Amino acid sequence: MNEHPDIPEGETKRQLVDGHGRAITYLRVSVTDRCDFRCLYCMSEDQTFLPKRDILTLEELDRICTAFVNKGVRKIRLTGGEPLVRRNLIWLIERLSRHLDAGRMDELTLTTNGSQLARHAAALAANGVRRVNVSLDTLDAEKFARITRRGDLQKVLEGLKAARAAGLAIKINTVAVRGFNDGEIPELITWAHGEGHAMTLIETMPLGQIGGDRAEQYLPLSEVRQKLEERFTLEPIALNTGGPSRYVRVAETGGKLGFITPLSAHFCDTCNRVRLTATGTLYMCLGQDDAVDLRTPARLDRSDALLNQAIEEAIAKKPKGHEFIIEEGRTQGVLLRNMNVTGG
Ligand code: SAM
Ligand code: SF4
Repeated sequence: MNEHPDIPEGETKRQLVDGHGRAITYLRVSVTDRCDFRCLYCMSEDQTFLPKRDILTLEELDRICTAFVNKGVRKIRLTGGEPLVRRNLIWLIERLSRHLDAGRMDELTLTTNGSQLARHAAALAANGVRRVNVSLDTLDAEKFARITRRGDLQKVLEGLKAARAAGLAIKINTVAVRGFNDGEIPELITWAHGEGHAMTLIETMPLGQIGGDRAEQYLPLSEVRQKLEERFTLEPIALNTGGPSRYVRVAETGGKLGFITPLSAHFCDTCNRVRLTATGTLYMCLGQDDAVDLRTPARLDRSDALLNQAIEEAIAKKPKGHEFIIEEGRTQGVLLRNMNVTGG
């Protein structure tokens, strides 16, 4: 008998609503903290990774994700680390796709660096994935190797090609890094839109130690946007994903461009998401340390009673917002965990 049943179709789900009245409908899951890249803004060169025994098994990930779906989560994004370096990830995707088939969930997606996408694109599409976010900060192979400390641009471009051939919609995520890709952003936009991809620009966030100076890398998107407006016509579009992105349409390319500005503009009022780490820790806010362990209740109790209780208590404690500030000579609100732990 299945000890962790899905709520049957049609049955009323209990919604997760936090202490500030926000419904939580979106779960991001870091399936591994490991990665085949070491991006300069994300990790240090000698990054230490979690011992494998601390990582949730794929079955446990399915069980915890399902508990959230049973409580009204409609969208799950798998991330990492690099999700596609987790062995048998496709098994998890196939398991979770039953919630799409049953209409209990609207979207299952992932954020990837694209290095393994060529191998997996068809299997993702066959298991209900419709869209992927692919991170790409430059189209110059030498600069790509430098920012990722080891990546091969060609492999990512092959991954994008395979994803498109499999029918996946693609959004390119580009982190704006001062002194690195400031000059290249218009070219990246023209390229992405020309390929039929949407694009989102991201500000660097002060997460974890990276072996460099954050303030030097920080490039406010307000500045990027001003420069873009000298070249492009940016028409605001009303597309509220409940997340931190604000979207425009670029008149010259016809493509969609998002700005994720956690530092220069706050977006917390409409936040609908929480984040699960690969060890089963639930972070209720990307920019705060408040966290609840879900692995222990899941392992202690073979029914889902303790797990469900822990999820409800965690959501009730979701913080109102974050307090990041990066200015010249001053970085505030820095968190000790790196982005690969909580996922982007
Ligand atoms: N490895 C996958 C990838 O790179 O797409 C998924 C995980 S990665 C942590 C998710 C996103 O976070 C990527 O788009 C990456 O560029 C972004 N990212 C990593 N560190 C960041 C930081 N300190 N500030 C802002 N974005 C960051
Ligand atoms: Fe890996 Fe993604 Fe972090 Fe780059 S941003 S090191 S690809 S987890």
